[in-house]
Amino acid sequence: MSKTIIISNRLPVQLQISDGGLTAKPSVGGLATGMKSVHHGGESLWIGWSGLTKEDTPPELEEDIDKALRVHGCLRVPLTTAEMEGFYFGFSNRTIWPLFHYFLEYTEFELDFWETYKTVNHKFAQAILEQSEDEDIIWVHDYQLMLVPQMVKEKRPNATIGFFLHIPFPSYEIFRTLPWREEVLEGLLGADLIGFHTYDYERHFLSSVRRLLGLDVSFNDVYLENRVIKVDSFPMGIDYEKFHSAAKVSNALKGKERTDLQQKLDDHKASAPGTKLIVSIDRLDYSKGIAKRINAFEYFLNKYPEYKERVRLIILAVPSRSNVPQYKLLKREIDELVGRINGELSTVNWTPIWYFYRSLPFENLIDLYTSCDIAWLTPLRDGMNLVAKEYIATRTDKTGVLILSEMAGSANEMNEALLINPNNFEQQADTLKMAIEMPAEQQMARNIFLQNRLRRYNVEVWANEFMNSLKAKKQGADPFVSQKLNPGILNGMLEDYKVAKNRLLFLDYDGTLVGFHKDPQKAAPDKELYDLLDRLHHQEGTTLFLISGRDKETFSKWFLDKKYNMIVEHGVWISRNGQAFQLLEKVKKAWMDKIIPVLESFVDRTPGSFIEEKNYSLAWHYRNTDPDFGEKRATELNTVLTSLIGNDDISVLNGSKVMEVKSSNVNKGRAAARMLSEKEYDFVFSIGDDWTDEFMFQELPNSAFTVKVGLKKTKAKYHVEGVKRVRELLANFVNPS
Ligand code: UDP
Repeated sequence: MSKTIIISNRLPVQLQISDGGLTAKPSVGGLATGMKSVHHGGESLWIGWSGLTKEDTPPELEEDIDKALRVHGCLRVPLTTAEMEGFYFGFSNRTIWPLFHYFLEYTEFELDFWETYKTVNHKFAQAILEQSEDEDIIWVHDYQLMLVPQMVKEKRPNATIGFFLHIPFPSYEIFRTLPWREEVLEGLLGADLIGFHTYDYERHFLSSVRRLLGLDVSFNDVYLENRVIKVDSFPMGIDYEKFHSAAKVSNALKGKERTDLQQKLDDHKASAPGTKLIVSIDRLDYSKGIAKRINAFEYFLNKYPEYKERVRLIILAVPSRSNVPQYKLLKREIDELVGRINGELSTVNWTPIWYFYRSLPFENLIDLYTSCDIAWLTPLRDGMNLVAKEYIATRTDKTGVLILSEMAGSANEMNEALLINPNNFEQQADTLKMAIEMPAEQQMARNIFLQNRLRRYNVEVWANEFMNSLKAKKQGADPFVSQKLNPGILNGMLEDYKVAKNRLLFLDYDGTLVGFHKDPQKAAPDKELYDLLDRLHHQEGTTLFLISGRDKETFSKWFLDKKYNMIVEHGVWISRNGQAFQLLEKVKKAWMDKIIPVLESFVDRTPGSFIEEKNYSLAWHYRNTDPDFGEKRATELNTVLTSLIGNDDISVLNGSKVMEVKSSNVNKGRAAARMLSEKEYDFVFSIGDDWTDEFMFQELPNSAFTVKVGLKKTKAKYHVEGVKRVRELLANFVNPS
């Protein structure tokens, strides 16, 4: 039976060693809760770091630790202090974290960090390989483990692997500064499904994949030679019921039943009725914009002094990564800032900022959420921001105002909040004023929408959606419709080939017999290809046609001596047995003079693109342009050409990084059908890689073997992976036994 394996840097269990005793408590964080529906019973295993380095683990407790973890379905990857330094505090938190949050100035590109990151990722991958089997589903979490998918896929190609990134994926302009950018992308592409919080992160990732690896991307699929990888967004939710019901319970408590913190908050409210409480809760991290928020608060109090003594800002900053130097500096900056502002603005009755640098237990978190009129969250960049969602979930009477940075992933789903740009102090001051003055009905009207959405798309739904999408991938719900040409099918085909008396083969050239080249003239045939084609051409009972969109001059140069049969320019010209090319179709060319200037204007505006003038068609090539820009221009050109040619007998073909304008009555399908009608053939085969070959696949009879190169959607019956596989396949024809 297949099982699920979850991998994250930290295990969802807290180990505590005291006086020789050992306890293991499940964590209560968002991820652990969300994964409850995925990680349960005996069919799931969670692999991660236990929280104790090798040096901190008493040898005599090793076995007890393993046992305690096993009870929770967990297995640890032992790490040394030095490994944690380089892998976690180093590469993860001093390279990837700042870079992916757009803090280039804090990003350290240290070779040692990278090397340790690779070593530790390898350890995680090894642990997975030891525990998994082919049919298992593997879900890898977050930026600490970006190389793991590829490391596992290499050794276990049939395993189904998902990866979810819990932080932003930055724009290509940022990502490309990483010295190991290709390795990181390739590491991630070992997965079958890659998930992000928002569509923007997904878009940025796909753009980097296209630009840095030159891979084909269609909608949200990435095409590798032998696999299609799905990329999608799954915005993470919270355990809505947990927060909502905890708030209800807390609200119902009376007097001394209430927590100490709640009683203090109650006292404060009673002593200063009408005072508004604003809360902000974050880990102490530069991405959260805490210092800027404090400055903005001062700005607000100066711009609207009438609110002095009428508002109070409560800041809860949770200690985080305090051994990374940048975090130490930030802590000092915030301490000083709070001290200065409180010193300058406090009165006998009022301190503008209450500042807590600690982590609070869950009940106290609920107290803060339920007691504060406004939540003010201003991250400069945040993958999601769950605090925003938790605040809304606790507002049982539906009042409360959420002010949220538009740089947080959650802002995408929380349109009813007051969204702000954290760098715009003017806007922040005005928004605070608006929040303070907002009538209760308006607060409620906004929160009803927010709460309904959070209740529906909770963290469990998030985890299930990801898993369902991953399972669908496992079941092979890939976008292509053809079947892989497996050994069974190949054997059957070769049997037919052997006994056939008259065989007809149509072979496309570029992308099928040879790979693509930046300069099409350089994609000339090599000796291996000539040998292969020679043997097929001279084989008794076999009629071989090269069928291509290329011009006749190039093919004459390469193949006329060889006397191969050739159809070029998609079916305009034909040459048999070394004779000069002759027209196969009557075609008009008067339209070409009108189209050339249009294409020229696109060449001028699209660096790297060029026009190929053939005898009866015009091709605009954009393989060498920036991929995103090229696609955009191609769409534009398509629109221009389609409106220009109207009902004329010409059509536009979208090939692989080429747009071709040609007479409508010419295509490879028509040409192939004509050849087929000349004689009785008992074995028909055609192979090609792009859109123009689809005409062939469509026109040939059902008995024909039609083969697509690559994994794109096709009318062909079968597919093979790439040029190398095509040549191996054809070599079988030379020697079908
Ligand atoms: N949180 C906590 N203890 C505290 C303060 C906050 O456990 O004292 C939790 C909070 O409930 C939230 C999480 O920390 O679930 C912070 O998540 P968020 O997405 O807002 O930010 P991150 O820390 O992941 O960047």
